[in-house]
Order: sequence, then structure tokens, then C-alpha cells
Amino acid sequence: MIRQEYKEAVCAETLACYREKLFAGTSGNLSYYDRTEGLIYITPGSYPYELMTPDDIMVITPDGTVKDGTHKPSSEWRLHAEIYKSMDSVCSVVHTHSPYATSFAVNNIGIPVILIEMVPFLGGDVPVAPFALPGTDEVGIYAVKAMTKDGRNACLMANHGVCAVGGSLQQAHIRATYVEDAATIYSHALSNGFPVVLMSEEMIQAMKKH
Ligand SMILES: [Zn+2]
Repeated sequence: MIRQEYKEAVCAETLACYREKLFAGTSGNLSYYDRTEGLIYITPGSYPYELMTPDDIMVITPDGTVKDGTHKPSSEWRLHAEIYKSMDSVCSVVHTHSPYATSFAVNNIGIPVILIEMVPFLGGDVPVAPFALPGTDEVGIYAVKAMTKDGRNACLMANHGVCAVGGSLQQAHIRATYVEDAATIYSHALSNGFPVVLMSEEMIQAMKKH
């Protein structure tokens, strides 16, 4: 069954990301996965955020079959579908081209643990997934690999952007916000000195157990 409240929730979270400038132009995309029904509620492709209403949210199956909606689903729907197939606890994906984080993605530089909140929110540092052509299965395959290797909740996508996941729309959104926040601070810190990395991988894993 297609649920109007999920369309409303995806639209509201999308517009919140847009207001926060995590999305620019028509870039970025966001989805929610109803695991009970096997349906992905996802933003439409190349559609202006200023005009977006809940009825513009597309409903697709993980193989890309459109179940509801009058647009095309986001061109990155395969990224979302791959994550839902591979990461059982994830029910929402936020993909942004937020500028500070994407500038590190362009340099293929991950963001080390420079702030303690990166551990609870992001699961540690923000790794970089290798480049893949936008819209291909590889975008998702590489992002999943980068995030699941050491239990992270977000990654950079080389020369492309950011991917953040969560058990809820709000959780994926706040993680995307924290990626941009950490990237902004790291960028400023690099410009005025030599940032101190807080933790080794062993310390991160030990902290996550407590
Ligand atoms: Zn993108």
C-alpha cells in the first residue's frame, strides 16, 4: 500500500535539506524505504525544490519499477536501492553535493575524526568511496563498501558528493548535516594550522562499544 504520510515526510525532509543548503539547484536526492511493503519513496529527478510537494515524490520498487508518481525517479535511485538491499538497518538515504564535504570528495580526501561527535553521529571518520559514473550500480556498490567496512553512517563519493544513511529520515538528514559541519570545520582548520586527529580506529571501535 502506498502511504501518503511517507510522501509528506520525504517532501518535508527534502525541503528542510534544501533550506539548509545541503542541496543546490536540483542536485541531491533523498529517500525513505518502507521495508514492510518493499517500496522506496524518493525525490523526482531534475525537479525544482521550490515547486516540490508531497505528490511529486516518486514511489518505486528496489528494481526501479515505478509504482506511483508522475515524474522520473531520481537518476541516482540505484544508489538508494543498493544501500537498502545491502544495509538492513537503513530506512533512509540522503545524497548531497554539500559544498565543503564535496570539496574534500573532489580531492579524494576523507574527513578524519577531528570532533568527538563524529563518532556517535557518523560512526567515526568519513571515508571516500571510489568514483563511479553517476546513475550506475557502482555508485551504490562503492558507497556501501566504504560505509560498511568499519561501520560508518556516511561517506564521501569521489568527485561527486556525500551519502548519509539512517534508520529514519531525520537520522539520515542529521548525519548529512554533520558531514558538512565536520568538513567545514576541517577545511577551516587546515587553512589556519594542522588539525589534530582525535582517535585511532581502535579507539573509535572501543568507544562505539560503550
Ligand atoms: Zn549526485
